[in-house]
Amino acid sequence: MFFDWPITEDYCRKICQALDIPLYLSWREGGLEREMLRFDSPTAATWYETPQGLKTSGGNSNNASTRWRFPQIGGSMITRWCSSYSKISIGDAAIANQERFKGKRTLVLSGERREESASRAKYKQFESHRTHTKSRHVDHWRVVLDWDEAQVWNIIQRYCVLSHPSYELGFGRCSCIICIFASEDQLASVYQIAPQVIHKMADYEKQFDSYWRSLGKSGYTIHRQYTVMERVTMGNPYPMKPEIIRLALSREYYESVIVSEWKLPPGAFTKDNGPT
Ligand code: SF4
Repeated sequence: MFFDWPITEDYCRKICQALDIPLYLSWREGGLEREMLRFDSPTAATWYETPQGLKTSGGNSNNASTRWRFPQIGGSMITRWCSSYSKISIGDAAIANQERFKGKRTLVLSGERREESASRAKYKQFESHRTHTKSRHVDHWRVVLDWDEAQVWNIIQRYCVLSHPSYELGFGRCSCIICIFASEDQLASVYQIAPQVIHKMADYEKQFDSYWRSLGKSGYTIHRQYTVMERVTMGNPYPMKPEIIRLALSREYYESVIVSEWKLPPGAFTKDNGPT
């Protein structure tokens, strides 16, 4: 695991257990790191948990190509390929390859909000989902599209749910631990709590940049003006509590996700970078 917060998977499990929601995970084999390091080879298979067990599809294409770069910052899902390869196409494959969705009506819910970015402001609240076909009715409802941030925290407070540890550390957005949109303060914070992650990121950045420059193409640092290490030195780490750092970097969520005394996390209402 390179991109994700180590705690995210088990945090999702514990939230679903607490709210009595069945959870089926889906993922790209090797995650974003394998896709990023793809060299003259096809994209890896998709895996998804189902009521009948673990299933897989794809991964056997003859279309070999080279990625060898970080996802690029921007609104296009083609160059910012992390969202499409690790989330959107994975969810689509999990729906399209399961017989249980055929002949039924399925509603996909997602949590984008208009005020997050100019392109999200133009999203439709309700539309046919990409996986909708004649034999499989699938709708897509963006449940909180018109909500502001206060409404989101209000509903979390109403159910006394402890937010993901990244918010408790001061991050204003729960993303990958090394999101390409990370601000300087976020990068400095990750460097303080998990320097090995930033060192690995910097090492990949150097390898990609020198490879593409050797082919006469523009360099492929994440931020075209500064390297990740330069951006770390430009930021200020958040004042993070040791017990939350331990939890955020653990694979097991060992605290209760439902609390009796709920407090707004330090990351709430802080301006933070995110997808455009
Ligand atoms: S959180 Fe950031 S790096 Fe991760 S998939 Fe989203 S945009 Fe890409």
